[in-house]
Amino acid sequence: MKIIQSPEEMRAWSDEQRRRNRTIGFVPTMGALHEGHLSLVRAAVNGNDAGVASIFVNPTQFAPTEDFDQYPRPFEDDLAKLGAEKVEVVYAPDAAGMYPDAFSTYVLVEKVSQGLCAGSRPHFFRGVATVVAKLFNAVKPHRAYFGQKDAQQCAVIKRMTRDLDMGVEIVEMPIVREPDGLAMSSRNQYLTEEDRRKALCLSRALFLAEEMLKNGERNAQVIISAVRNAMRDVTIDYVALVDAETMAPLETVTRPATLAVAALLPTARLIDNIKFDPGARKM
Ligand code: AMP
Repeated sequence: MKIIQSPEEMRAWSDEQRRRNRTIGFVPTMGALHEGHLSLVRAAVNGNDAGVASIFVNPTQFAPTEDFDQYPRPFEDDLAKLGAEKVEVVYAPDAAGMYPDAFSTYVLVEKVSQGLCAGSRPHFFRGVATVVAKLFNAVKPHRAYFGQKDAQQCAVIKRMTRDLDMGVEIVEMPIVREPDGLAMSSRNQYLTEEDRRKALCLSRALFLAEEMLKNGERNAQVIISAVRNAMRDVTIDYVALVDAETMAPLETVTRPATLAVAALLPTARLIDNIKFDPGARKM
């Protein structure tokens, strides 16, 4: 497994693969890898001739008050996990290489970037879109794999890729959960035992709402109220029922929807969601 640090070297490697007609599947990450990340990595390796993963804790998506310094960076463990999955290249640029002096170009994806996580993290999607655009320019993937766990992020990346003619196929992968339902996240390791217990109410609330939707409930306010009630033991950042593609709020669930929640626990901010398509036929 090759470790590449500079955008120039990364591009040269990718150009060579493309010359040889090899397809490249790419998984951008911030490291501290868990089974959620690895499910994306497996799809990238199995669905393409070469799998590439990046590890970069991106400073521009953190506000000064957030956990950039504290974010876990178990680099050697991450490399071992990626090696075991037969990734060919780990792209691990450093912040100075990614954001040289006088860096001044950002990607702003309007509308889809508003609401939900943007409420408490107003700079987040500008940072994410910019770093993913840069990573795509260096890695030049045919396909890139993102987790539904970050549903708004997925919607933003799909819109950016389409709007800017990037020619990268975005593959959205299902959420990988702990056996008790908690969505896996690198930030779960911040949780105290008590917070870990409380955190379970996010997935429980979503599964309850999923049952309501499956049973025919379509009124967003009714569903949101039930979710809020099921999350009464934590501080809610938001509960939103939105169009799955545009992230615009829905009053009635008449098209594919994302029900997304975020909660502020004392030790971590957690997000989770489910998707529901009212047009999908029952199995
Ligand atoms: P991160 O390292 O948090 O930036 O995440 C890297 C990628 O892994 C993103 O596309 C996430 O959506 C995805 N991811 C994180 N957690 C999970 C999970 N529990 N299941 C599936 N994908 C995930």
